[in-house]
Amino acid sequence: MTEIEDVIIIGGGPAGLSAAIYLARADLKPLVFAGSPPGGQLTLTSDVENFPGFESILGSELIEKMRNQAKKFGAKIVDENVKTVELVESVKLVESVKTKSIIIATGAKALWLNLPSETRLRGKGVSACATCDGFFFRGKTVAVVGGGDTALEEALTLTKFAEKVYIIHRRDFFRASKIMQERVKENKKIEIIWNSSVEEILGELKVEGIRIKDKTIKVDGVFIAIGHKPDTDLFKGKVEVDEKGYIKIFERRSTSVKGVFVAGDCADPYYRQAITAAGTGVEAALEVEKYLELL
Ligand code: NDP
Repeated sequence: MTEIEDVIIIGGGPAGLSAAIYLARADLKPLVFAGSPPGGQLTLTSDVENFPGFESILGSELIEKMRNQAKKFGAKIVDENVKTVELVESVKLVESVKTKSIIIATGAKALWLNLPSETRLRGKGVSACATCDGFFFRGKTVAVVGGGDTALEEALTLTKFAEKVYIIHRRDFFRASKIMQERVKENKKIEIIWNSSVEEILGELKVEGIRIKDKTIKVDGVFIAIGHKPDTDLFKGKVEVDEKGYIKIFERRSTSVKGVFVAGDCADPYYRQAITAAGTGVEAALEVEKYLELL
């Protein structure tokens, strides 16, 4: 390793790896801490059909291709989790490695119910992204769990494909915005089941139903929409974050600390797509290039 790196990227999902490809091609030899296990949320999904250029590809394969592409141009990738950072304005430290600039691309995690059956059937009918996986449920019956804006938006998205959509919510009122509630209540494909929690997802190799109290409902897919958590604990008190922990973006992918940039879902509570994360990774890389030129 060189004495001081030009740039360290923290995160090995589409945001971090897209930044790495650009910075490697700019001959800046980025050092990527890709996490352990590396790859982010994409490695938890099965088929990805909405990443331009790939009609259908496994999430893990897409990540592997991005890693190889970044390495080919000179990126150094280590599959380790970063546990310590020092984000001072001059020389920054990631673990004990000195660097002039940093891109934070640590992503976010969907929250799950933490049922063993949910973990077992993830990618086999259990999903946390209707935009990504709704297409696979054309003409089928699905359930969405949650009562916030995400759950209602997921349910409405799913009505474009599925024949019937249940919303399973643990209370007797939604916390989602009024307009979303109205849209959901007007949609004839949606049935709301109040005051209920999914106790088990049924099926061996794929989702076949859900158990709620003593009742079972036949469904082909279950979408968990109970919120997301950005992976930003490492940076609390070091860069500004919003009330939910998402890193605040100042001008053009920069954070509250000079020389520290941000990309992907750790700063994005809205879009949460691999391609949008990749796009912001490229933006951050271009900003790093400009920043280093002016040092
Ligand atoms: P929220 O935190 O708003 O809602 C999470 C929902 O999941 C709540 O209804 C909660 O229930 C339920 N929940 C949480 N844990 C469990 C559990 N273990 N079992 C069952 N249910 C559970 O998250 P969202 O992702 O919906 O939204 C996050 C933010 O993003 C919000 O501010 C939202 O407004 C915003 N957003 C805006 C959109 C838009 O404007 N188009 C679209 C999507 C999100 P309970 O109500 O009982 O607490």
